Amino acid sequence: MLAHRRGWVFDMDGTLTHAIHDFVAIKRELGLPEDRPILEVLSEMDAARAAPIARRLDEIEYEIAGRATAAIGAVSLLRALRDAGAHLGVLTRNTRRNALLTLEVTGLLPFFEVDDILGRDEAEPKPSPSGVARLLSRWGCDPSRAVMAGDYLFDLQAGRAAGVATVYVDGSGVFPFGELADIQVVSLDQLLPLFETPN
Ligand SMILES: [Mg+2]
Repeated sequence: MLAHRRGWVFDMDGTLTHAIHDFVAIKRELGLPEDRPILEVLSEMDAARAAPIARRLDEIEYEIAGRATAAIGAVSLLRALRDAGAHLGVLTRNTRRNALLTLEVTGLLPFFEVDDILGRDEAEPKPSPSGVARLLSRWGCDPSRAVMAGDYLFDLQAGRAAGVATVYVDGSGVFPFGELADIQVVSLDQLLPLFETPN
């Protein structure tokens, strides 16, 4: 299932890193409704009202980025994929600036080319599949040879819509969006044997 996959797109926060975003608390601080995703609410506001909220969101996420730590198994998986010649990308609803800081402080930045790190300003945010498609096109990689790995509904929806295999990482083991996942793991280190075993 995974052994022949050569294009790997990762969600960042909560997938490559330990989950520390408390989105409900962030929405409260921004004065936004708790039951809807932040980026979509901002995109529906008029620009003058949205701009200061978006700036504050960037500040909050930048502060979180500075405290990020790599998820269990992230380094060993990325190293194995890189050594096998796989293309590695990041697709995040965070900003590229925050992604670069997060990857830097977690020690994961050397595994990625900067152009393969797409934030919310480089590609239409997930659940849109356009970021996945953009990376695959950069790599000349067919969707049948690619993977989208993430810890949230939007990651799996984006992967499904892009026609790639979906890997659902949920440390809680509950997998509430499991019907959209081809493979479910509680941590990234469980992927290594799946990648290394031809099937
Ligand atoms: Mg995530």
